[in-house]
Order: sequence, then C-alpha cells, then structure tokens
Amino acid sequence: MKYCRFLLDNQIRYGAVDDRDGELWITGPAPIPEDDLACRLARAQSGQGESGFDPMPLSKADLLPPVTPSKIVCVGRNYRDHVRELGNEMPAEPLLFFKPPSSLLAPGGVVRLPGASSRVDFEGELALVIGRRVRNLKPGMNLRDIIRGCTLADDVSARDLQKKDGQWTRAKGFDTFCPVGPIVSDELDLEAGLNIETSVNGEVRQHASTLDFIFPIPTLLSAITAAFTLEPGDLILTGTPSGVGPLVPGDRVEVSISGLGRLTHIVMPEIV
Ligand code: MG
Repeated sequence: MKYCRFLLDNQIRYGAVDDRDGELWITGPAPIPEDDLACRLARAQSGQGESGFDPMPLSKADLLPPVTPSKIVCVGRNYRDHVRELGNEMPAEPLLFFKPPSSLLAPGGVVRLPGASSRVDFEGELALVIGRRVRNLKPGMNLRDIIRGCTLADDVSARDLQKKDGQWTRAKGFDTFCPVGPIVSDELDLEAGLNIETSVNGEVRQHASTLDFIFPIPTLLSAITAAFTLEPGDLILTGTPSGVGPLVPGDRVEVSISGLGRLTHIVMPEIV
C-alpha cells in the first residue's frame, strides 16, 4: 500500500494513497504505525476512533514527514560516479553517518541556508523505512520482511563545513536539512532497481538507477545493523548519484522516483 501523513483539523492523520488518472489522491484513513507514539497517544486520549474524511488530491493536503524515526542512518559515497565527482576514494565498506530527527522537513517545506556555510548542496536519495526491530541482519534476508516501504529524501549538505569540521554531524544535521516524503510505498521492486531523478528549477541535475549502488541494500542493512539496532520507523538514506551542486535562495528542488510521487522543497536564507 501507499500512505502519507498529514494534518487535518489540527490532528495528525494517516491516509491511504492511490493513483487516480496519474494523480495521487488520499482516499481514506490508513493505520497509524506503531512508532508514531504522539499520534497514537493523542488518538487514545481523545477517546475517539479513527474518523473518516473526504478524498482529496495529495497536492492539496497539509503534508507532514511520513516517518517518525528514532534515528536517520545515512550512507555516504554509494554511487561510483558521485565518489569520482567529489574526488574521493572508493569506499571498501559502507560509510555511515547520522542526521538528527530534528533535521526532518515536510514535503513542500523550506530548507534554510545557515549563515555558517557558504556552500549547501542538494543530494536526491532513495530512502527506506524500517518496519520492525532488527539487529545483526545477515545476507539473504527477505527485504519485504524488514522494510516497511520506500520514500524520497534530500540529504542536504553544507559541503564547506563537511570538509572544515573533519566529520559530518553539523554539515548534514542543520534544521530543515532532511526533506522527506511525500508518501511511503511498499509496492516497488527494490531488486529490479529504481530510477531516481533530481531537478533544480525544472532542470534535471541527477539521474541514475539504484542498480548503480556500490553496496546493494542487503549489504547496507547488514553493515548498519552490525552497529545499531534499527527500530520501526527508522529511516535509511541510501546515498546520492553524481550531479550534486550548490543551492541558492529561491531554488526549487524536486526529487522523484516512479511510484513515489515527487518530493519538493524550496530554499531560503536562514532566519536570524
Ligand atoms: Mg547523501
């Protein structure tokens, strides 16, 4: 199924999403995932069950990030052509880092360029949503058993601070630096590979297949869960293809994969 998370009448809602003549629509309530504790608590305290609502186009909804992760695990340098474009060494094993949950940004939101950086890049990425608690996964796992679904993300990165700091926490972790959404889908065939495209102001800047990953998804999950227990709702950003570049105020970024809709955000200066 496909679903989104959105605000309606000041309540967090989950909606089932369907394709109607090429446009995504929210057609009715969807189950609340176990990890969205705030939503579950609010529903329990209200003493009311899940109420219905009229179908609406996804584009008209007040969308929220479709995930409530305890952590966001990211993979650096997972496409050969991106490793080359930044002049880095090919990694011998998956290179992992975190973004904080405070960096999450709703679809259609505003990425704020921090005054501390003079170069902030977009990085369109396929993201995976974890469906159950897992650790020490071994190769040969059944991905459908572990992954709740796929979504889109922009791993927004302050490239100058990434170099200057010597590690990536600040460069990758500013507020608004993780736009994610608009939907989660379990209907895509990850093994067959997905075509991902990122455009800025309507011009295509990144275009690749996830078949070009240096480390495929089972290898990533083995490496990640050898280090950390993954919880339901955790988000994995799988790396970006070549074509990254700097953003300036007023830019409009769009990341897309067929079947996942389009993740958009705009770019504005920091509010001081
Ligand atoms: Mg990245």
